[in-house]
Amino acid sequence: MKHLDTPTLDGLEGRIKEGETFRFRCHSGLECFNRCCRNLNLFLSPYDVLRLKQGLNITAGEFIDQYTDAVLREGKALPELLLRMNDDDEATCVFLSEAGCTAYDFRPDTCRTFPCEHGLYYNAEGQKERVLFLRPPSFCRGIHEEQELTPEAWQKDQNAEKHNAMNELWGEVETLLSGNTWGAEGPKGQRAKMAFMAAYNVDDFREFIFGSSLLKRCKIKSDLKMKLRRDDVAVMKFGFEWIRVFLLGMPSNMIHMK
Ligand code: SF4
Ligand code: SF4
Repeated sequence: MKHLDTPTLDGLEGRIKEGETFRFRCHSGLECFNRCCRNLNLFLSPYDVLRLKQGLNITAGEFIDQYTDAVLREGKALPELLLRMNDDDEATCVFLSEAGCTAYDFRPDTCRTFPCEHGLYYNAEGQKERVLFLRPPSFCRGIHEEQELTPEAWQKDQNAEKHNAMNELWGEVETLLSGNTWGAEGPKGQRAKMAFMAAYNVDDFREFIFGSSLLKRCKIKSDLKMKLRRDDVAVMKFGFEWIRVFLLGMPSNMIHMK
């Protein structure tokens, strides 16, 4: 989910407004089947990393090392993770097989949403709105199929509700971060490294929670403490909150200092 940095939504290409529908159905009978899983820059959200490492039954650190490249874009506070594609002529996705996606159940949000893209828009009053755009590549035949969908039906069809909710949470933290967030340390400094771990590496961050003095320094409800031991999503949400409190100095309902 992208943060939409635009003064108005008017006239943005491919936007599907509330109540509107679009035509789309993807299936193996189409001549373009699997073509969109090549030659793409697939950025992964923290929740994408969590789901992929769970699906592959490896740690977040192993997933990041083996399957991604970190890219630090101009003006960004943190590196972002790109899924590393196969080193072949078409830069084919590592999860693609003849029969389709081998990671289908835990595929990234971009793949669930494709050929749509969604973003978070903040209006002048600071209210947020989730916005969907239909932006298929020219070769996509699925947009000529009969099936008509609303954005809600599409999200449900792709089992994307949890991804969207978690990516929205991360989007809110991301909007608080900019290239200047870390001051002289910059995005390669220690605080940025901690923020990256809190966001993308739930296994290392869990070790940090229980292996450092953090729990001695702050009050956290006992049921949350128990959850943090076994629930990756709880660790990720806690990590987002930890960034707000400890790195950005913001108040929190979840974490209180002793
Ligand atoms: S993860 Fe699956 S759906 Fe996404 S690009 Fe790779 S093969 Fe295609
Ligand atoms: S190009 Fe469109 S219809 Fe074809 S496989 Fe990709 S998403 Fe499906």
